[in-house]
Amino acid sequence: MNPFAYARPTDLDAALRLIAANGSTDAARPATPGPTAPPDLAPAVNPATPGAANQYEVRFVAGGTNLLDLLKEGVQVAPTLVDINRLPFDRIEETPDGGLLLGALARNADTAYHPLVKQRYPLLADAILAGASPQLRNMASNGGNLLQRTRCYYFYDVATPCNKRTPGSGCSAIGGVTRQHAILGSSEHCIATHPSDMCVALAALEAVVHVQSVRGKREIAFADFHRLPGDRPDIDTTLAPDELITHIALPPAPQFAGHSAYLKLRERLSYAFALASVAAALEIAADGTIGAARIAVGGVAHKPWRRPEAEQLLQGQRPSDELFGRVADALLAGAIGRGSNDFKIPLARNAIVRALQVAAKGTVTNWNVSTPDQGEHA
Ligand SMILES: Cc1cc2nc3c(=O)[nH]c(=O)nc-3n(C[C@H](O)[C@H](O)[C@H](O)COP(=O)(O)OP(=O)(O)OC[C@H]3O[C@@H](n4cnc5c(N)ncnc54)[C@H](O)[C@@H]3O)c2cc1C
Ligand code: SF4
Repeated sequence: MNPFAYARPTDLDAALRLIAANGSTDAARPATPGPTAPPDLAPAVNPATPGAANQYEVRFVAGGTNLLDLLKEGVQVAPTLVDINRLPFDRIEETPDGGLLLGALARNADTAYHPLVKQRYPLLADAILAGASPQLRNMASNGGNLLQRTRCYYFYDVATPCNKRTPGSGCSAIGGVTRQHAILGSSEHCIATHPSDMCVALAALEAVVHVQSVRGKREIAFADFHRLPGDRPDIDTTLAPDELITHIALPPAPQFAGHSAYLKLRERLSYAFALASVAAALEIAADGTIGAARIAVGGVAHKPWRRPEAEQLLQGQRPSDELFGRVADALLAGAIGRGSNDFKIPLARNAIVRALQVAAKGTVTNWNVSTPDQGEHA
């Protein structure tokens, strides 16, 4: 691992000033509009080369469960790390409208097991608990989960070309081993998938990402947070290099708590990334018809995959396997396999149908939970 300078600010302003003053060599992500950082801020000191800090890429580090692996493997370079674990963003709070505000530094485990998350958003709790291992979830933060990088084998293998790691070098996955790779939304430059489970549920729940920099605060709708690769696969998100995620807001969603399901299909029963996953949430009216519906698919694209027009097919209809099949086909329209991931197209179709069947019957979780329209169930 390369040597790095390390700062551990205790307040938000200091953290934002450190990253703004040091800039980032990650030219990949365009800066958001707004005033530039004040010129008089002191840069974080790199003891090896004081005064040369501006040429370094500066990174926030939270749980470190993804970033430190990338640094150790030489996939990313960050000679200055700003440890944000002392910032006051580890809480989960209720919002006046009945939603929740998840601190970016709240741990994945604390989020999944929070009583209000389990009660109001069992879909999110299930998705988080489907990811990684208990030890990793204890370390992983909510903000870091959103920004974890792809698990494409070639991205991690610095001996191979990869446009995401080294722009312009080529894509080794195209024509290579594609078992984990995208069937939707890919480009000739990159066919990687986004690996997060949590983000699939957040997409279905239409979360809002709150971010802040020295230039001010802004909110990013979850659908706009991750991007498709296009001709810039090195850019994963619309977050600017100097922006910190402070919170993730969950809008109220009582209509979905009793009828949601997260289904993850993977190589092993635990400790494996999704080949395909589905977050499904249905509003079922008293007469048994479907009101609103949300479906997000993971493991199939560079971002959680949603198609509102597919969801609309469910509105006002009675649940049926035939209907769910049509919805799956609409969600996956245009899917392309690349040899070793051809199997993902029928796999994802079956997963969508199955998740909708489970959601229609009623939320099932691994814990006892009371939801607004359901009693205790296992
Ligand atoms: C063996 C293994 C198995 C895994 N399995 C799964 C799985 O099945 N499903 C799944 O979803 N995930 C899985 N993960 C990934 C894991 O969920 C992520 O590594 C974790 O969520 C990242 O969070 P972190 O706090 O550790 O992020 P870090 O590693 O600290 O940071 C990740 C990135 O986010 C940036 N960052 C962190 N916080 C902020 C912030 N507040 N604002 C701006 N930037 C920030 C960092 O600069 C860095 O670029 C697995 C990981 C491992 C190592
Ligand atoms: S799919 Fe994307 S991440 Fe994987 S090798 Fe190609 S460019 Fe790199």
